[in-house]
Amino acid sequence: MKKVEIPRFWYNVLPHLNAPLAPPIDVVDENGSRIEIIKKIRPRALQLQDESDEEWIGIPDEVLEAYEQIGRPTPLVRAIQLEKYLGTPAKIFLKREDVLPTGSFKLNTSIAQAYFAKKEGIKGLVSETGAGQWGTSLAFAANQFGLDSRIFWVKVSYEQKPYRVLQAKLLGAEVVPSPSEMTSAGREILKKDPQSPGSIGTGISEAIDFALHNDSYKYVSGSNLPHVLLHQSVIGLETKEQLLALGETPDVLVACVGGGSNLGGFMSPFIEDSRKKGLRLFGAESEAAPRLTKGEYKYDHSDPLGLTPKVLSYTLGMDYVPPPVHSGGLRQHNGSPVIGSWKNEGLLEAKAFSQEDAFEAGRLFAQYERAIPAPETNHAIKAVIDLALDCKKQQRKCNIVMCFSGSGLLDLSGYQKVLKNL
Ligand SMILES: *Cc1c(COP(=O)(O)O)cnc(C)c1O
Repeated sequence: MKKVEIPRFWYNVLPHLNAPLAPPIDVVDENGSRIEIIKKIRPRALQLQDESDEEWIGIPDEVLEAYEQIGRPTPLVRAIQLEKYLGTPAKIFLKREDVLPTGSFKLNTSIAQAYFAKKEGIKGLVSETGAGQWGTSLAFAANQFGLDSRIFWVKVSYEQKPYRVLQAKLLGAEVVPSPSEMTSAGREILKKDPQSPGSIGTGISEAIDFALHNDSYKYVSGSNLPHVLLHQSVIGLETKEQLLALGETPDVLVACVGGGSNLGGFMSPFIEDSRKKGLRLFGAESEAAPRLTKGEYKYDHSDPLGLTPKVLSYTLGMDYVPPPVHSGGLRQHNGSPVIGSWKNEGLLEAKAFSQEDAFEAGRLFAQYERAIPAPETNHAIKAVIDLALDCKKQQRKCNIVMCFSGSGLLDLSGYQKVLKNL
């Protein structure tokens, strides 16, 4: 296959929504104005990207160089043995983001965010992490651009995945299990529930609290927001070129969906194909947090204490604490407003899968394709297998293209706990 280049521009999907993104709603009380809080604690360049109506945004040279160093463009490969095993006439293509050095696509945005922060003279970055892939990717990028990083690590995943914590520490990050006694937000959560396993939401609350009290740190996020989807558009742009080089047209795109950044970055460059040519877009979520299938489309905060402005998206309610499944990246009560608008427009189909079904799909995948997917990725694999079997039933040719969001090599204990006979 002809080798494609790394794109020189990110694709901004905001001007391609069916209506302008609903503006956030502020809340003002003794904690202050939520919109003002976020303005104060986020790098400026990223806030501007969240409101940009430019279709294409240039990728700075230093970011391009870093993308090249981590191994972009990532490969697009066929899952031929899985296709044969399933006996399906469908072709299954995988965009392999798991081959990046921290084992997931999160580096595409952490590198960009650290670059812009450095340019603004910021000393350190603070954030939360669920499954840990964002935490390690942030640690990697902060290290690369000479910044400090502090990560509030969702407690259940801190305990389930000690090796990913060690990886972030080895890359130079300060790591704190959340909820913690370190911030007033953490202390408040612990007062309500001393046994709280934490969630992405509790981590967000603590990271924001930390940034508010430490001026040299700015707060960054690994998902949900338009600038994150923007940086992740490299996934979709490369995939588009790679399919073109193979002479293939996609019929359905599949990704797992938590905050929505791998799905959003992968699918954004195809959004007009979905509207005009009927390309199917399919999101696989976790039954532990079935926002798109069971949630309501309404304004809500993205954290359980209401420290963030309210945004319009699908939500299970800010008090919803998802059960502690092994797919930390999918455990949150709401998601990206962009993905919400696609779902609401009828462009995006969604289905929720159980942890057991997802891990069984991962086991099957490993046996035929020799890669161990992240637990989150397993949800997309389960969806792909079901779609490929539908094509078989209907004896229909079909190109299924999936974003392989991450590697499960540091999630083997999750496999051991969920799968029988392992
Ligand atoms: C973070 C993560 C996800 C979920 O996040 P999105 O923002 O919904 O993409 C999925 N898979 C992996 C491997 C992740 O690291």
